[in-house]
Amino acid sequence: MEVFVLETAKYKRVVLKLSGESLAGDQGFGINPAVVEDIAAQVKQVREHGIDVAIVVGGGNIWRGLAGSAKGMDRAAADYMGMMATVMNALALQDALEKIEVDTRVQTAIEMRQVAELYIRRKAIRHMEKGRVVIFGAGTGNPYFSTDTTAALRAAEIEADVILMAKKGTDGIYDRDPNKYKDAKKFEALAYIEILNKGLAVMDSTATSLCMDNKIPLVVFNIDDHKNIVRAALGENIGTTVGGNV
Ligand code: UDP
Repeated sequence: MEVFVLETAKYKRVVLKLSGESLAGDQGFGINPAVVEDIAAQVKQVREHGIDVAIVVGGGNIWRGLAGSAKGMDRAAADYMGMMATVMNALALQDALEKIEVDTRVQTAIEMRQVAELYIRRKAIRHMEKGRVVIFGAGTGNPYFSTDTTAALRAAEIEADVILMAKKGTDGIYDRDPNKYKDAKKFEALAYIEILNKGLAVMDSTATSLCMDNKIPLVVFNIDDHKNIVRAALGENIGTTVGGNV
């Protein structure tokens, strides 16, 4: 696919973290095809700006390990099921992107050779150099981790400039739950250590520490606005920035 660089973008390579929930739309579970199509169209626009895109997708719209284990299931088994759920989402995204002629590769951290490539760092980078969007499925391949940690890990490995974290129903990071407290204050920018110290519910502490230690900036933004993936990728000041110059 030929790509024209329309302007000088702030980022050369981004990791887009999509929670499973963000694929579910208002139904809250499963995969909503119209929502996935909309996300794919935005990713296509980001590519048209010449920005490399890797996507890490979650699985919470189908299965969440912790919730499974809370019901008495073995934690590791429940987590492997969660990783399988992320692969389903990855394939849905791939399908939507390929339908609008965006070249993609799905790479999974657990080998499923009939379905997708195995994650190989250098191959992932090569795909992006060729203009392909790489979608990472199956998280890190390890139980007891999250796809937020996967986003941090892959961003470090592929030397992404930023993690763009799309959230559903919230437009950034607040000092307390804005759905419960009217006077909750939104942060424009903050440091990773503040997330840990204040116990802010942005991402788990493993993911936060990995980003902090490797100095990977994060932008948390609202996916309900249909232009926000492009705006975030172009470096517009939307949502909350973590670990930038703070
Ligand atoms: N998971 C895991 N290891 C990983 C990534 C994910 O075990 O490296 C499992 C875990 O059970 C998690 C589920 O997959 O609950 C779905 O991922 P996550 O909760 O991060 O998805 P999201 O909240 O982004 O939809």
